[in-house]
Amino acid sequence: MPTYPIITGIDVYEFWFEVKDMAPNPDSGSIVYTPGHNLKATHFALKVHTDQGITGDYQGYPLLDAMAIRLFAHRLIGKNALERERIYNDVKRAMRAFSRVGMGIVDIALWDIAGKYFNAPIWRLLGGHPKRLPAYASTYHGDETNGGLNSPEAYADFAEQCLEMGYPAYKIHGWENGLIRREIENIKTVAERVGGKMQLMLDPACAYETFADAVLVGHACDDARFFWYEDPFKDGGISQFAHRRLRQLIRTPLLQCEHHRGLEPHVDFALGDATDLVRGDPEYDGGITGVMKLAHACEGLGLDLEIHGPGPAKRHCMASIRNTNYYEMSLVHPKGGFYGPPVYRSDYQDGLDAISKDGCVPVPEGPGLGVEYDWDYIEKHAAGFVTYK
Ligand SMILES: [Mg+2]
Repeated sequence: MPTYPIITGIDVYEFWFEVKDMAPNPDSGSIVYTPGHNLKATHFALKVHTDQGITGDYQGYPLLDAMAIRLFAHRLIGKNALERERIYNDVKRAMRAFSRVGMGIVDIALWDIAGKYFNAPIWRLLGGHPKRLPAYASTYHGDETNGGLNSPEAYADFAEQCLEMGYPAYKIHGWENGLIRREIENIKTVAERVGGKMQLMLDPACAYETFADAVLVGHACDDARFFWYEDPFKDGGISQFAHRRLRQLIRTPLLQCEHHRGLEPHVDFALGDATDLVRGDPEYDGGITGVMKLAHACEGLGLDLEIHGPGPAKRHCMASIRNTNYYEMSLVHPKGGFYGPPVYRSDYQDGLDAISKDGCVPVPEGPGLGVEYDWDYIEKHAAGFVTYK
């Protein structure tokens, strides 16, 4: 009789790291270039223990998800860690009143356990292959600071730098103060400099005040032949009606659903004709289990699923999905530090310099997530710790 790994406990760390020459903008809350100031950013790390000594390890940024584990940890202790489908559905129901926060990051840790148990990388368990993943440089939001991304020319210079490094695509997170003329100028300037040589995307991250602003900027994306246009205005990216209307008025493909959590709202949004490309994130959307369900739902509709943000779990998903295009290397800046902690002991790396000349990143080949975390660093920088048994 084979024995299965039974969950015996969960450790949740909150830890901090520094992001060089960056600071929050007091007006918008976004992170902007601030020479001489190192931002103290916070991530979480997770360790799911089993009775066989195998642990599921993961670190990431949705701190609220890590805090929410307290609401359902008692449902996990004593369960077979390999029964992800049952756990996915159980936690999904338990957290139905709380936007299903927390379930994604636990699922990722359970996949790490499964990979270690079967001595295979997660993509192998998913039937994927170790393909190289073409990456896009995904910028911080615009700065007003000298030397930062403070003008259309500065964005174009950085796009050119990324092109020379090998990036096949570049995504602008523009300014957050809604100066639409400057947004449009930015699109034109970057497209004149690198258009036709790399794919271009725009993500205002729901910054524009009005639907009309979203249409005006959408027309500029059309003229510049942008690859996609993402979450333009302050509905928060969730109005099917508004995005269906927007699709009728512009030609650039829309990429929506970053701000819906889970399979069903994504599928509803796509069936509502409200997006062209669908966003998915294992941290937000029910883990690797949830994202693979979503990828297959999109495949059934003939649509592509675009994975949000960097990290090992995202790479394993991309290596196991046909209908996906680019890996998001976010957030990057020509001078300021990358928004990610130095927590990998293995040769795994994210950041502006993490791509090879071919513009791609590899998929980890070790068991589970295939990365080794630096737990000394995490413990030394701990800002909080909770354990559930
Ligand atoms: Mg986005």
